[in-house]
Formats: sequence, structure tokens, C-alpha cells
Amino acid sequence: MKMEKSKYNYQDKRAFVRKILIALFLLVPFIRINGHSFFRFDIPDLIFYFFGFTVPINNFFFILLVTLFLTFAFITMTLMFGRIWCGWICPQSVTMEVTSFVDKVKKGENSKKILYFFLLIIISFVIATNMVFYFVDPYQFFRKLFSEGYIHPVTFGFILTLAIIIFLDIYLVRFRFCATVCPYSMIQSVLYDDHTLAVYMIPETKDDCIKCNSCVRVCSTGIDIRQGLNSACINCAKCIDACEKVMGKKGKKSLFAYLYGPNNEKKFTRPTVLIGLVATSVFLVASIVAAVHLKPYKVEFLTNPKFYPRFTEGYAVNGFQLIIENYSSKEKKIEIFLSEKSKNIDVVIEPAKYFSAKPKEKKEENIFLKIPSEISEKNQLIDLEIGIKDEEGKIIFKKITFRKPFVKRSSVKK
Ligand code: SF4
Ligand code: SF4
Repeated sequence: MKMEKSKYNYQDKRAFVRKILIALFLLVPFIRINGHSFFRFDIPDLIFYFFGFTVPINNFFFILLVTLFLTFAFITMTLMFGRIWCGWICPQSVTMEVTSFVDKVKKGENSKKILYFFLLIIISFVIATNMVFYFVDPYQFFRKLFSEGYIHPVTFGFILTLAIIIFLDIYLVRFRFCATVCPYSMIQSVLYDDHTLAVYMIPETKDDCIKCNSCVRVCSTGIDIRQGLNSACINCAKCIDACEKVMGKKGKKSLFAYLYGPNNEKKFTRPTVLIGLVATSVFLVASIVAAVHLKPYKVEFLTNPKFYPRFTEGYAVNGFQLIIENYSSKEKKIEIFLSEKSKNIDVVIEPAKYFSAKPKEKKEENIFLKIPSEISEKNQLIDLEIGIKDEEGKIIFKKITFRKPFVKRSSVKK
């Protein structure tokens, strides 16, 4: 059924929101900050590029904080505004609205079926390819495609698989997904209470219904919301606009509206919402603080298992490995030094104190610490603290243990 403009005009507003979301979906993978993607989980390097931050996947703590923030934000939004996400923002419903011509084809309303199928295949591939760009650098993808005519087989396999799934979803599943298998639909039915925003029949005017069934015919999920709140309702407001069109001719308003519960009592100060807001705020602040302290590189200072401690030239020598993993697009320089806590021991660091790693490079360097033999002989183990300073002055400290060599000094060859 063709929707005409109504006083409420929710469908025009939804169409406007859709345009913004589609533009964001298509453009975000191409936006770059500091030489990196604005928002992308890079599968080849296992790095999450996030609003200018570089987060290696092994940074569990930060990823946990962001996950908790998003979880509580979603729960709180559902408590307050119900399935507003589903009807206005969800990629599934946005895709189904954009491809609504499929419904017409199925009902035999249009004879240009081959053209529509062709269009559907193109849309499926565009969505699938753009989804892959959230995991693979799009600039590299196009560079290789245009210069060498090459797409990595795994990337192509993902695009093809996703395109087939999206095609089947658009052609066969459509809004049934929202009403049946969508996990969010199951969760939200538990979160609803008497103050959650949803589409209701207005109690004062519901007896004015002339049973034209317009609201049922336009419903995205095929339900009859006149019977009462239904967990399959995605808050798309099509029934509000359809009824407005019918009742408008009688000089009346739509019999449906967005209401905060059946009695329309807006109450954001209820305990569940307050707890949700506090938890969301706490995890948001914690995520920002953690993001500010993130380093786009990782440094390890480990005992070298292949170098046995030994005496040589009046010193006891232990071998270590400095491992620098640079995730950023800039060269990373670091300096190693002995912390104040270990300065009372006479330690020599060889062969160098300054190291660098090129962009995306993982570098391993051998480092030797030398302590005068007479000090080492008196101590089986000496605890030391090594400082590692980057060019921005950020310092991390690593605790290491210097071991007394097993062999006697006189028996060791240089
Ligand atoms: S009942 Fe109304 S708001 Fe709910 S899904 Fe159907 S048309 Fe959309
Ligand atoms: S569109 Fe309005 S008047 Fe028509 S059946 Fe639905 S509620 Fe009743």
C-alpha cells in the first residue's frame, strides 16, 4: 500500500534517517585519521582502529570496557525507548525498507522482474563488499584490484558468501527476521515495562476505529497492533501514518501513537533506567580513560632462553630479548634504562639503549646486562627494574631477574 504524507509524517522522517545511515555505512570505511581507518577491525593485523585510536586485539581490558559500555547503553535505550532501534536504525530494517520493491515483485505488482532481480544482486554485492571494508583496508583492496586485477581469494570468498546471505535475507526473510529469530527481539520483551516507549492504540479514541484494516496491511511484520502490545512490533510507525490518513479524512487524528506505556507515563527516573544510565556512564568514562592511555605499540623485555648466563671479562652476563611490535603508521623509537629502584647496582646495558621499529614492524633485539662478577657471585638472583621510554615520554617498567651463572668464573671461556 502506498503511503501518503500525513500530519505525523513518520515515514518521511524514517526515510531521512535512512539516508544518513546509508551514507555513513558507505563512507565510514574510507575515512582516515592519522593514516588509519576511522573505524575498522583489521583482520590481517588483528588491530581495531577506533576513532583515531589503535587497539591491538590483545588489549582485552579496553575491548571488555567498550563491550560493557555498549551492552548497558543498549539495555538502557531499550528500557526507555523500546524497539526504536529496530524501526529506525537497525541495518536489517533499513535494508528491508530500501529494497521494499521486492514486496511488489512478489505480489506480482510489477512486470520488470528481471530488472529487479539484477538490482537486488547489485545491492547485495555492494552491501557485502562494503561490510568487508570494515575488516579489510578498502584503499588497499581497490589499489590491488585496479593495478593487478587481484582480489585475495579469502576476501572474495567472504564477499560472495555475504552477498548470497544478504540476497536470501532480502528476497525470502525480510521483516520476518525481526519478528522471529532476531535475538534483540527476544531480549527486549524481557526489558519492557509499563513506561517503555512503544506504538499503542490511544485508549481514549480506540472506539473510533472503522475497521478499515489499513494499519494491518501496512505493518512491516504483519501484526494487528489493535489487539495490544506485540513483541513483533518494531516501532516503525507505519500504522500510525496509515491510520492518520484514514482518520484524517474524518477530521480526526490517528488512533495510534508512540506512548510511554499503555497509560503514557514517561518516567525516566525509575530504578532500572537509573541503574542502566549510571552503568553506561561509568563504562563510557572508563573506556575513554583507557583509550587515552592506549599505546599503538607493544614492548616486551624477556629473558633470552638461548643465552645461558655466563662470566666474562670480570662481569656476569645475562641475555634478554627486547620485542617491539609497532601497530602504528609511524616509526616508533624507544630508550631502555635502569629504573631508580635498580640504580644502586652497577649494571651495564649492551649493545645499545636506543631502538626503533618501522610502521607495522615486529622487531626482536638481543640485549645483554652485565653486572660485576663479585656482586653476582654473592646473589643467586638479583631483581632489577627496566624502564622503557617512548619519544612522547611515556614510560613503562618491566621487572626482570638477573641470574648468577651456574659455572665457576675460572672455568668459563670467553
Ligand atoms: S504495529 Fe505499527 S509500528 Fe509496529 S511493526 Fe506494525 S506498523 Fe510498525
Ligand atoms: S487504520 Fe485506524 S481506522 Fe483503520 S483499522 Fe486500523 S486503527 Fe482502525
